[in-house]
Amino acid sequence: MRVAIAGGGLAGLSCAKYLVDAGHTPILLESQAMLGGLVAAWKDADGDWVETGLHNFFGAYPNMLQLMGELGILDRLQWKRHALIFNQPEKPGVLSWFDVPDWPAPFNIIVSILRNNDMLTWNQKIRFAIGLIPAIVRGDEYVLSMDKYTFTEWLKMHGIGEDISTDVFIAVCKSLKFIDPDVISATVPLRALNKFLQQKDGSCIAYLDGAPPERLCQPIVDYVTERGGEVHTNSPLKKIVLRPDGTVDKLIIRGVDGNADRDIHADAFVSAMSVDAMKAFMPEPWQAMPYFQQLNELEGVPVINIQIWFDRKLTDIDHTLFSRSPLLSVYSDMSNSCKEYANPDKSMLSLVFAPAEGWIEKSDTEIMAATMGELAKLFPNHLPEPAQVLKYHVVKTPRSIYTAIPGREQFRPTQVTPIANFFLSGSYTAQIYFGSMEGAVLSGKLTAQRVAEQAVTLTKELVAS
Ligand SMILES: Cc1cc2nc3c(=O)[nH]c(=O)nc-3n(C[C@H](O)[C@H](O)[C@H](O)COP(=O)(O)OP(=O)(O)OC[C@H]3O[C@@H](n4cnc5c(N)ncnc54)[C@H](O)[C@@H]3O)c2cc1C
Repeated sequence: MRVAIAGGGLAGLSCAKYLVDAGHTPILLESQAMLGGLVAAWKDADGDWVETGLHNFFGAYPNMLQLMGELGILDRLQWKRHALIFNQPEKPGVLSWFDVPDWPAPFNIIVSILRNNDMLTWNQKIRFAIGLIPAIVRGDEYVLSMDKYTFTEWLKMHGIGEDISTDVFIAVCKSLKFIDPDVISATVPLRALNKFLQQKDGSCIAYLDGAPPERLCQPIVDYVTERGGEVHTNSPLKKIVLRPDGTVDKLIIRGVDGNADRDIHADAFVSAMSVDAMKAFMPEPWQAMPYFQQLNELEGVPVINIQIWFDRKLTDIDHTLFSRSPLLSVYSDMSNSCKEYANPDKSMLSLVFAPAEGWIEKSDTEIMAATMGELAKLFPNHLPEPAQVLKYHVVKTPRSIYTAIPGREQFRPTQVTPIANFFLSGSYTAQIYFGSMEGAVLSGKLTAQRVAEQAVTLTKELVAS
């Protein structure tokens, strides 16, 4: 079958990869000049990569690891020491480590929490451990049932005070979904913790050894095109054209750079665009259908990523750090963490600025000034002086992953739609890894499976008729 896929983020790419594996022919159409969507990156005038966001891979990403293994690129992941590291606002420049010992799960995580006395009191540790028991025992059924609460509400229900929320969990929630614990669904941090407690290396972090478009997306493109698939950038979907019965007839792709629009005919069609883009292209006859109406309950969350090049080394830490700053989320010195950006003399910080609500409209200069104010607390020996900023880039994403507030799980659509030849893919669709790279890869794989199943059904119907 020919399968047209609109959207060349990780979901669309993964879908194309698994479609060629199933013997189908994907035609992937990406609106931008580069692939990757939320993992896209481009070079600035000096030839330095600018990334849409700082991206961490985890041991608990089975589908991403399987995909990279199938592509023969697993060695491109640079695994870091198994630990979570937090800044301590009350002690500028001092770090607090949750070192995870090389023990079986869940004991390794439990020991790492018990050993850390900087951020949790014994009372908090015990109450939190008791609170987690239903998640460990009842698993995902319990985790999903907590989607009606914010994480702050869940903590209060378990007698864990506000202080623990401000200390540790603001940082964790911001890193997971770019929003605070009093806004995020309790399901998100509980499921992440549950995954980390189940798998020995689940919380171990890895970095890609270079920019995602070259080091992750391109191998998928090569794999797909070598097997007869097509990948087209600069190919924005303009319209989904329907047949009288409401199924998809064709996609119209807008011509760019003076080229004419073109029609894409296929046997099946996939939207691997973000939920916000999909809503914008929804054909009018579909809008009254409950399946498509539920998309109105999902909306991308704003986030900002900042990369700053300094004239000297600020740190030698080769890892992700939780800033515990009111404005910033996680950050890393990419000159230590990423092989392609390695520099023994100068730091390049990549920082996630979240929550970005109220900041996304501000100028780059204002965002940078606020960021430098926070960095002075994280690197008091170097900032505001003597370290000098050589250059910086601010990348704003007004609508990124879907906003994981309470009650959203029920609205995340299945990859199969009520339209026989139309499917959805994307990290917002129904799968257990929320808005993440792992979720995108898994959703693409699930969509490819559903398309392949549909192909079998169609063939049987044709044979029968
Ligand atoms: C700052 C930041 C940090 C992050 N950190 C992490 C992390 O550490 N770990 C992690 O696992 N995840 C992280 N994520 C989340 C992760 O990047 C996403 O969940 C994942 O990449 C989403 O992939 P996707 O394919 O579902 O969607 P997208 O990447 O949004 O892909 C959708 C694609 O559709 C294209 N498109 C839109 N409109 C059209 C059209 N009209 N025609 C054709 N194509 C169109 C877009 O250009 C895009 O390429 C982060 C995200 C951000 C923004």
